[in-house]
Amino acid sequence: MTDPVPATNPFRLLPSVDQLVAAADGLGLARPLATLLAKRALESLRARIAAGEWDAAGFAAFVERGGVLREIEDAAAKERRAGIARVVNATGVVLNTGLGRAPVHPEAAERMAEVARSYCVLEVDRDTNQRNQRDDRISELTTRLVGGEAAICVNNCAAAVLLALQTFAGGKECVVSRGELVEIGGSFRMPAVMERAGVKLVEVGTTNRTRAADFEGAIRVRTGLLLKVHTSNYRVVGFTEECEIDELARIGASHRVPVVFDLGSGLIDPDGATPLDFLDEHWTVTRAIASGCDAVTFSGDKLFGGPQAGFVVGKRDAIRAMRKNPLYRALRLDKSAIAGLERTLELMLEGRGDELPARRMLVAKADELRPLAERLAAEIGAVPGFAAEVVAERSQPGSGSAPHVFLDTFCVAVSRGDLSTERLARTLREGEPPVFARINGDRLLLDVRTLLPGDDAALAAAFRNLP
Ligand SMILES: *Cc1c(COP(=O)(O)O)cnc(C)c1O
Repeated sequence: MTDPVPATNPFRLLPSVDQLVAAADGLGLARPLATLLAKRALESLRARIAAGEWDAAGFAAFVERGGVLREIEDAAAKERRAGIARVVNATGVVLNTGLGRAPVHPEAAERMAEVARSYCVLEVDRDTNQRNQRDDRISELTTRLVGGEAAICVNNCAAAVLLALQTFAGGKECVVSRGELVEIGGSFRMPAVMERAGVKLVEVGTTNRTRAADFEGAIRVRTGLLLKVHTSNYRVVGFTEECEIDELARIGASHRVPVVFDLGSGLIDPDGATPLDFLDEHWTVTRAIASGCDAVTFSGDKLFGGPQAGFVVGKRDAIRAMRKNPLYRALRLDKSAIAGLERTLELMLEGRGDELPARRMLVAKADELRPLAERLAAEIGAVPGFAAEVVAERSQPGSGSAPHVFLDTFCVAVSRGDLSTERLARTLREGEPPVFARINGDRLLLDVRTLLPGDDAALAAAFRNLP
């Protein structure tokens, strides 16, 4: 048989894995990683050749230009960028879920790091050396801050809702208004969560109107829970009516059925802190608890401004029942989150709520932000190739909190003649430190509202370092 493949077969121009690993020696990769990336690069090139991306001459030219080595260089650069890393948030979305929601207070971060690298009194009482509950202190501090008799803390608010549902309505029925069967974030759909928690969903009312009588009429022997969900991420406007939580709490009490209010964003109004009333949130956590319902759930890393967590606060019996649920063991917090939450709670109780980064960003007024925007525009404008100007814009609270509320702000609009806006945004994300900006039409906006102390210098440096 004759060989049907001509001598210029592009596959034959590919180096061996060993050759490519040797060529990539200067990249400083550990040997196993270099081998892995070389194999993947060759595999991808083979697939692209097979797909007809090059003819024989074209591929020879690609090899000649060092294209094969560049494949592994790009993969190595991507590897260095992979994983969780600090970024500069210039999007103007304060509680940006993609960027980790609330940055914690430096003192909370310090506590988190300290307990992470050491042993700590996680589940033992220092006075008696007896076992205790890891969130005893959180429970104490939380009730001091927002009222209620006790609290329990889990991994996030979704876990808090799951625990409440399963504890009170597992194998039973949970009554919810049709107007509140929401999806929160990616895939947390109330009806689906209930199904998985073994809870039978009983929907009452209509999308726009649900009355107290609808709930009363749905209560049966098998009713385990009346649930109210704060529809923080959308709004029904116009001809609407809902059964308010105080009324629902009364109905629950008279039928001896627990009532839980899922607040989600969880607005706290601590003494000595600037009120966040401009968010137009009717329910603070304190007010929700005072309504008389059995438990309120809310996030640790939304308006509360702490690490990722989910609070359940309310009546002692309700909290005790949740603590006894074996599921709690699977949902409980780790020591670092506990340390961060304790410090965040203490700061608010000490009257230092305004120091919490997320709160500080939310309350900042446009004219307070302007000087920073002007300074940054001057620094970025001085980088060769860049044009930068200050523009009036609007920021957002984020994470479904007050989606209809916009906050007046100032942004730096930047451009570079040789780069499209998309390309510039990408270059910034890949830079050091990575910068996430907002794209508005053909403008790249850097919103100074969401910059942390020191971010302005990092941001200017990121521009100077751009390729
Ligand atoms: C955001 C939200 C949740 C989920 O909170 P996570 O802490 O992200 O799990 C649950 N319920 C409501 C109403 C929310 O807004």
